[in-house]
Amino acid sequence: MYQANNNRYEHMKYKKCGNSGVKLPRVALGLWHNFGSVDPYENQRAMIFEAFNQGITHIDLANNYGPTPGSAEDNFGRIMESDLRPYRDEMIISTKAGYGMWEGPYGDGGSRKYLMSSLDQSLKRMKLDYVDIFYHHRFDPETPLEETMGALSDIVRQGKALYVGISNYNSEQTRRAAEILKANGTPLLINQVSYSMLNRWVEEDHLLDTLDEVGAGSICFSPLAQGVLTNKYLHGIPEGSRATRNFFLHEDSITPEVVAKVTKLNEVAGDRGQTLAQMALSWVLRDRVTTVLIGASRVEQIKDNIGIVDKLEFTEAELQLIEEILAN
Ligand code: NDP
Repeated sequence: MYQANNNRYEHMKYKKCGNSGVKLPRVALGLWHNFGSVDPYENQRAMIFEAFNQGITHIDLANNYGPTPGSAEDNFGRIMESDLRPYRDEMIISTKAGYGMWEGPYGDGGSRKYLMSSLDQSLKRMKLDYVDIFYHHRFDPETPLEETMGALSDIVRQGKALYVGISNYNSEQTRRAAEILKANGTPLLINQVSYSMLNRWVEEDHLLDTLDEVGAGSICFSPLAQGVLTNKYLHGIPEGSRATRNFFLHEDSITPEVVAKVTKLNEVAGDRGQTLAQMALSWVLRDRVTTVLIGASRVEQIKDNIGIVDKLEFTEAELQLIEEILAN
């Protein structure tokens, strides 16, 4: 049985999430890829243990992670049962509903019917009584926001989640969601959004200002642009990498222009004494972002990525150089 490292809290840094009292590790691990029924189980265990041993107390899931959908939660539940139960109170475990999960009109969207039944299924798969954060995974224009937020509040009252979050909501949607939740007596904890050097909609939308206004935190997914912002694709597309494994990252998107930019960024990272992955993650945390949410296919990547907590700061000159590279 797994025995956690005694020094697990010595290196990682933690930050308060918005106005709440809960602190999140600056680096969290997501189980979107590489934790499904098609992926080697022992590698999944090794990655989760490595993360927890390094102070990564936050693990992020969703009902549909796999493939097959639901299997990441199933696998996590197996590991919870066999190894992690003694550490449950040291962990922040999140899941979500919002994308298509089962057949028929009640397995997708933002209805109370979908959210309530989906969380019950998730808890069974993960062998948990409650999750720490339950998210609505994406804004649903077809459901009144009052219904979706009402369901989130009631889930907290039922004790099935301690906090609630939204994901992929823009500033306007975030303000409305926070207002409705507040009226229901449930603070909005966090918004989970995509953000990286290659995807900066969060800045254009002034989302971090909005989150400050409503007192919520932020957790940013795909901070490495699914691996593009690492040294992985500098000399071609390696077999077994995400670009060869599924349709979320197309080989076609790794163009010579992207590789040229990434090559220059890699040089800046080297001058900072970091790997490119580390610099890309530190960059996401350079402003007010609470946590970067990484994915990994092997233990070594987690080891590399947590190295950022030693060097989160940038000089003005470094930031300017990065802007110039990204602009060209
Ligand atoms: P990343 O941008 O961190 O991409 C992870 C991939 O990058 C890994 O699978 C690996 O690719 C590669 N990688 C990671 N570290 C290194 C390293 N040090 N050196 C070289 N390559 C590395 O994030 P994800 O896109 O995986 O997203 C992270 C999490 O965010 C998800 O697991 C999920 O929890 C959440 N998410 C949420 C969404 C939402 O709508 N709310 C949507 C998408 C993600 P390879 O497999 O090629 O080795």
